[in-house]
Parts: sequence; structure tokens; C-alpha cells
Amino acid sequence: MTESGLMFAKVAKEFGYHPFPQPASNASRPYTNSEGLTLGGCQYCGFCERNGCEANAKAGPQVCVLPLLRAEPKFTLRDRAWVSRLSYDKAAKKVTGVLFTDTRTGEEYEQPAGLVVLSAYVFGNISLLLNSGIGEPYDPVTSKGVVGKNYCYQLSRLGVTLFFEDKFFNPFMGSPGTQMVMDDFNGDNFDHRGLGFLGGCKIQLGHADGRPISYRPVPPGTPRWGAAWKKATAKWYQHAARITLSGSNYANRYNYIDLDPTYKDQLGRPLLRMTYNFVENDYKVGDYCMRIALDIARAMQPTMIGPPGLRRGDYDTVPYQSTHNTGGTIMGHDPKTSVVNRYLQSWDADNLFIMGASTFPQQSAYNPTGPVGALAYWSAEAIVTKYLKNPGPLVHA
Ligand SMILES: Cc1cc2nc3c(=O)[nH]c(=O)nc-3n(C[C@H](O)[C@H](O)[C@H](O)COP(=O)(O)OP(=O)(O)OC[C@H]3O[C@@H](n4cnc5c(N)ncnc54)[C@H](O)[C@@H]3O)c2cc1C
Repeated sequence: MTESGLMFAKVAKEFGYHPFPQPASNASRPYTNSEGLTLGGCQYCGFCERNGCEANAKAGPQVCVLPLLRAEPKFTLRDRAWVSRLSYDKAAKKVTGVLFTDTRTGEEYEQPAGLVVLSAYVFGNISLLLNSGIGEPYDPVTSKGVVGKNYCYQLSRLGVTLFFEDKFFNPFMGSPGTQMVMDDFNGDNFDHRGLGFLGGCKIQLGHADGRPISYRPVPPGTPRWGAAWKKATAKWYQHAARITLSGSNYANRYNYIDLDPTYKDQLGRPLLRMTYNFVENDYKVGDYCMRIALDIARAMQPTMIGPPGLRRGDYDTVPYQSTHNTGGTIMGHDPKTSVVNRYLQSWDADNLFIMGASTFPQQSAYNPTGPVGALAYWSAEAIVTKYLKNPGPLVHA
């Protein structure tokens, strides 16, 4: 844990909160997983959030699964294979294969398939269902249809920067997962009576990615360029720490994904269109949790505190905020209101399983990848132990 994380934990505990080190999927020392594949030990270089890991310490398919699969004679990995749609027999409720284009040659191929696992990230999953005519697209006017509904986006870019003249945080060392976090104001963990909103935030602090260009914390009032800015960024690089908040975002009937009526991709397929904005609940979640964060920030006794970063106004796609999109092919008990059952099996084709955060009915405040992985194991187990033995719907609606 970083010094800033320990400082945060000490003060949060004094408030009676319950901070803990956030679980992360980089190995702190060499580790051999259940498949017999070995991850390296993290070197805390701070670059892994947006780059590959030269120490092989970051858990990902290329380290944890693919080396084993490559030794399997029945396995083929096809790169540059851009899947444009799934072939679908609506009457039989089966997918019969996958159409893909080799992006080097432009040639299209059909891969026949007895079973398809669709795991093309949230947007790819939605796009492939809509472009293949599988499932009823969501209609925001009637609230009927399922594909594209419940699109949610983690509430982010909330936080406050603290400046400590007498501390040296060495922000260039660490890993982005190294964070001290608290869940006391997350989800249903606190009493919402009288607050007028649902949900909450995880509140965290840690140092991880003091990269040369992207990390330039300066106190309020610093000019945005020129000699004074340069002086301030050199002065404060070592001395700043940021409390960040990530909030829940619950589904509503207005936010959804559908096919764009105008714009098309290189294959001539309609692009996805996102219809999304914040609602009052989102602002209230952010405001309330930011007040908690500011109390902690002040109690940490910094030399200075920056302005609280709050969400205001309309949603804007331009700044990077998070990669934590959810919904669009959600799981549920009823085919009228969901796309997949609890085993991630499509209600509209029993040999199609859909994996990824597109199956989350709601957006909890947390980053999604842990549950994405857990659900993949859960679904894979159902495929092996139930479906392959007796192909057909695993849940009867
Ligand atoms: C910079 C960054 C930081 C992140 N940090 C975190 C974090 O701290 N914590 C966290 O929980 N999550 C984090 N995430 C999110 C995390 O990466 C995703 O949640 C996770 O990778 C989703 O897994 P997935 O298997 O559903 O999709 P992906 O990992 O996106 O895999 C989908 C695959 O499908 C392929 N594909 C898509 N469409 C097609 C098509 N038509 N044809 C063929 N192939 C296709 C893609 O090339 C890709 O290989 C981060 C993401 C980024 C980019």
C-alpha cells in the first residue's frame, strides 16, 4: 500500500469507516494459477492501466488462459477476424455460425458452429445481436423490447486533490490497482432515509500512475500554461494525492443503445447509437458522497485542497471517464424483460451464451471486470455440466 493510501485509511478509520486495500488482478509476487500458468511479480512501474505488462504480472487471457489453449490441438486463434454477424435460425431458436471478415484481405468467411459464446465487450455484444436480428430491440417509447436496454455508465470523474507540502508520494511507483478503498457509502451500505436518492460511491485513494504527461496536479489558481504552470507542476508532482469516487448508475427507460439510422461502419453495418444522460439521482449520489470525501480530505490536514470535481450538466463523451459500461444484453428471469437467463444463455437461441458486463442489469459503483470473470466461470460451468449433456434451454420461462 502507498503512503497516501495508509494516510487515507488512518483518517477514515478515525471517522468509524472501514477502509481496505482494493483487490487487484496483478500479482504482487510470482504466482502459478490453477491451470499451471505462472504470472510474474509486479514491478510497480505504474504503466499497466493503459499498457501491457512487461513482467507478465497483470492477469489477462494472454497470461492466464491462452498459453494452455494454444497447446490444445482443437483450438485455433484467428486474429484479424472481424465478426460482422451471427447466422441465426429464428424458427429453430439456434445460431448456426458466425460470419467474419479477414481484415487483411477483406474476404468474408462463415464459421459453422454448434455453440457460440459471444464476448465482444458491451458494445460488440449489443451490436452483433442487433445486426443479426436476435432478440427484440428496445423501444424507449413503449418500453418494450430488450436488446439495448438498461445501458448504464459508471459515475466517474468525481474527486478532490490534496496538496501536502511536507510529504513525498513517489507517484511514479505503484500500480493503478493499488488503492485504499471504502464501501461505507456504497450501494445499500448506509441509511438512505431522507436523502432522496438510491445508490452510492466507492471512495478511494492511492498512488499508481504518475505518468510523465498525464499526471500534472497543480493547486487551484495556477495558470494553465507558461513558466508559472511549469514551476507549479515541478513543485507539486511529488506532493499531491487524489481521493476519487466512482458511483453507481441505475437503469432508466431513457438511456439505451440502438442502431444508428445514418452512420455505418466499413462493412456497411449500422453503427451503434448511444442515447444517454445523467438524471437527478446521479447528481445527488455524487454530491452526497463528495461531502463525505471532503470531510476526510480536510481531516488529513493537507496544505491545500483543490476544488471538488462534481458532475454537472449534460453527459459529455469527450473526456476519458471510465471504461465501465454495462447493460444492453441483461440477464433476468423473464424473456420479456431480459436477453439472457441466469446462465447467460440467450432466451432467443439456446446455443448462444453472452458474456461480459452487457449482462449486468444495473451498474454498481464498482469496476466490472471481477464479476465479468466470475460470471464467465459460472456460465462455462453450466455449459459443461448441464448444456453439453442435454442441449436446450437451461431455464424455462
Ligand atoms: C484503460 C483501461 C483501464 C481499465 N481499468 C479497469 C479496472 O481498473 N478495473 C476493471 O474492472 N476494469 C477495467 N477496465 C475494463 C476492462 O478492461 C473490461 O471490463 C474487460 O476487459 C471486459 O472484458 P470483456 O471480455 O467483456 O471484453 P474485452 O476484454 O473488451 O474483450 C472483447 C474482445 O472481443 C473482441 N471483439 C469485439 N468485437 C469483435 C468483433 N466484431 N469481431 C471479433 N472480435 C471482436 C475485441 O477485440 C476483444 O478482444 C479497463 C479498461 C481500459 C481500456
